[in-house]
Amino acid sequence: MTEVTTPRSTDRKSYLKVMQRFPFCKGCGHQRVTNAIDAALVRLEIEPHNVNITSDIGCVGLVDTLFENVHSLHTTHGRSTAFATGVEIADSILADSKLKTIVVIGDGGAMIGLLHLVNAAQLNADITVILYNNFLFGMTGGQNSCFSPLGFVTATTPGGNIVPPVDIIEILKGANAGFLARKTATDADLAETIAAAISYPGFALVEVLELCTEYALRGNAIRGNKLAELGAGEAADLGIIVQRHDRKELGVIYKEKLEGRKEENKGGGIEPRYENALEKKTGFVIAGTAGERVQSAAYILVQAAVLSGANATQKNDNPITQGTGFSTSEVVLSRDKILYTGIDVPDVVIVVSEDGVKDLAAKGVFGATNDETLIVADETLELPGCRGRVIRLPLRRRYLPSGAAFAGILTAVKITGILPALAFQDVAVTQKRSEELLSILEHVMGEI
Ligand code: SF4
Ligand SMILES: [Mg+2]
Repeated sequence: MTEVTTPRSTDRKSYLKVMQRFPFCKGCGHQRVTNAIDAALVRLEIEPHNVNITSDIGCVGLVDTLFENVHSLHTTHGRSTAFATGVEIADSILADSKLKTIVVIGDGGAMIGLLHLVNAAQLNADITVILYNNFLFGMTGGQNSCFSPLGFVTATTPGGNIVPPVDIIEILKGANAGFLARKTATDADLAETIAAAISYPGFALVEVLELCTEYALRGNAIRGNKLAELGAGEAADLGIIVQRHDRKELGVIYKEKLEGRKEENKGGGIEPRYENALEKKTGFVIAGTAGERVQSAAYILVQAAVLSGANATQKNDNPITQGTGFSTSEVVLSRDKILYTGIDVPDVVIVVSEDGVKDLAAKGVFGATNDETLIVADETLELPGCRGRVIRLPLRRRYLPSGAAFAGILTAVKITGILPALAFQDVAVTQKRSEELLSILEHVMGEI
């Protein structure tokens, strides 16, 4: 690859790095398109800290590195649109919605991640996708993509492509995209169209037809002024093709819904009414057999903790076959915000069946225990090597398989004293099996 030097000023006449040396091959269309994005940003006068360039894989994956002082995100092949949609939703909901997220993706990435484009258009996430369409995979050696025109000669279609290309504009029309444009890299008003796309409140895509000079020119007699003929649509089908004003952007709808839910929940939710005695973040791993109410018992623990003023997270796991095999929950309790929901060293392990033992052994939970770990196990189980205090009880025999996990949790709570029994009682009375749960509660709390 040769490098081309383009002088840049620093007074926001450009968002590109000063004296940026473009890394693309001589004549590569990527340079023109990147300059047009830059010119669009200059035109819109967006603060650099309100710009996020999300790049895909391929030569286009270098584009985000060429910009200065903007946010940038380099992602996996085809997934840039999905990452950008997530960034946009987070900005809409958690911040001030000022971030302008621009996805730079090639035709190869668009092919691999087509559904992400469709989904972002459906959602109407406020992102702008600039699709650098040079009709082939440039970085990997010039193979054809599903954007290659009929007859196009590529590394994998030396006799000319025989498969008609997809028309991304038509596909995204069908996904209710609000703003769609097709331009060529040589269009004098490309920056203007990109600026219109960035300004559009919702999903916008500009497909820019351009050339990979390294590979496209080898077998195809084409030049820049013929680019329009290579697009999947009609040659004349250039410019802004779709601009709808009947769709609200996703962030706006989401916020409206959120506000509505807050109104509905006023006075609702779980209001703490007890005290907890948590001295540190505490991780429970609770394991048993699917269908034996392991995860619902874990959820009662979570609710009782929240009723006692703690923060709580729960993660469940079971095999693909929902009704057979193991059923495991990881519950983290803490007085502080829980920013990490993993359990590296379990504080409490409850295991009530052979399926549970097998799952925890496979996950290395027993090996991760330490001298402080409390393990409550059914009396019938053989546990692999583990450290800590082991309590064996006839949980299944005494409380039936459906009550074993709940009884194990209550046992651990009673021993550690971290949560009051009253909190469990308050939760238990709201459950369908309240009688069974209250009886276990009375039995365990009264007996141990
Ligand atoms: S290989 Fe093609 S797409 Fe990549 S930089 Fe060179 S000309 Fe551009
Ligand atoms: Mg390409």
